[in-house]
Amino acid sequence: MQANMQYDLVVVGSGIIGLASAYAAYRAGLKVAVVERHARCVGASVRNFGFVTVTGQRRGEHWARALRTRNVWEEVAPQAGIQVVHQGLYVLAQRPEAMAVIDAFLQTEMGEGCRLMSMAEARKDFPALQDGLGVLYSPHERRVESRDAIPQLSRWLEHSLGVDFFWNTAVHGIAAPKVHTSRGTLHAERCIVCPGHELSVLYPEAIAAAGIRMCTLQMLRVQPASAVTLPGSVMSDLSLVRYEGYADLPESAPLRQVLEREQAEWLEQGIHLIAVQSTDGTLVVGDSHVYGNSEAPFASERTDVLILQEMQRVLKLQDATVSERWTGTYASAAGVVYKAQVAPGVVLGIVTGGTGASTSFAFAEELLAMAMASA
Ligand SMILES: Cc1cc2nc3c(=O)[nH]c(=O)nc-3n(C[C@H](O)[C@H](O)[C@H](O)COP(=O)(O)OP(=O)(O)OC[C@H]3O[C@@H](n4cnc5c(N)ncnc54)[C@H](O)[C@@H]3O)c2cc1C
Repeated sequence: MQANMQYDLVVVGSGIIGLASAYAAYRAGLKVAVVERHARCVGASVRNFGFVTVTGQRRGEHWARALRTRNVWEEVAPQAGIQVVHQGLYVLAQRPEAMAVIDAFLQTEMGEGCRLMSMAEARKDFPALQDGLGVLYSPHERRVESRDAIPQLSRWLEHSLGVDFFWNTAVHGIAAPKVHTSRGTLHAERCIVCPGHELSVLYPEAIAAAGIRMCTLQMLRVQPASAVTLPGSVMSDLSLVRYEGYADLPESAPLRQVLEREQAEWLEQGIHLIAVQSTDGTLVVGDSHVYGNSEAPFASERTDVLILQEMQRVLKLQDATVSERWTGTYASAAGVVYKAQVAPGVVLGIVTGGTGASTSFAFAEELLAMAMASA
């Protein structure tokens, strides 16, 4: 790093929130640098499903963030060479109480563009679905392969849009216009700090005061024994009591009661089903949720078994094998996002609802507006 390099804005963190912030700043005509303590992004943003979800997001502002973000992904993906791997969402309802939630959801403004499919209709597109009572179909979702898409996005920002990246460089203090890093000092009047679940380095008091902790998830890559095609992302009854766009509806209470009787162990581990497909035919399947003040260091085999059982309940997949297992951790709090001006010219932004792939670009626009108003 050359001494005293000058920028209009420095972004801390190269996860999706940092990259989206750099993109928003580029669009505003700013000279931008991104500082990342690792040699590449290895955080939640490359460990997720790459599932850009609109349907099921918390009603109101967050749902609107997801719609806006989906639209920006559509604009950015072709320019950055990112493939949208599949589109749309199928929520298989296997209990009458789940059908009641879907009926209620479709009556709301969030149901726009979505519809209830009969099993016969759903099976035309999707023969691998197990039996159920009906399917909520949403056309809004997109899926990218995050482990490829995030590096592609950072390369595009760097090589096509002129954003500077400082890898293997930790930011350990900011007193705007000075940004103190492990490799020297950068200068910028404004900073957007996007630390993900790194809660103890920059502004730990603000983070603690906001009640932010960590949530660790288990994920699997599954190799079907014979070829199966998922026309879109898949969810199950358990998702209808987890995703707030459904779970906050009064109709979800009876479904939760049934699930507490029939799938208590899944609920205890915070398990619900998301299954998506990669271009090589494998499925990415998850997930579980364990909350605490640190990452959960050990993955539970029992949790993986429960996730796979839920997958089999929803998808006809005989003799599928697991080819990869991993965990991921995100920052979690009661609010779905946290944003605050934490010092003159410095804005801290954390998605705390586990939805950063789905809400990043809109959230980043909010962070930039706050940063521009702050200095
Ligand atoms: C397993 C899993 C599955 C998920 N699935 C989905 C999904 O399908 N759809 C969805 O919308 N969301 C999903 N999420 C949530 C989503 O991945 C996160 O909300 C999002 O990735 C958070 O992005 P981020 O940029 O805040 O954090 P991260 O991706 O963790 O990036 C933060 C970066 O900041 C860097 N950093 C921190 N402090 C410093 C510092 N002081 N100096 C320099 N660098 C620093 C870190 O090294 C890191 O690279 C999932 C999360 C997990 C874990």
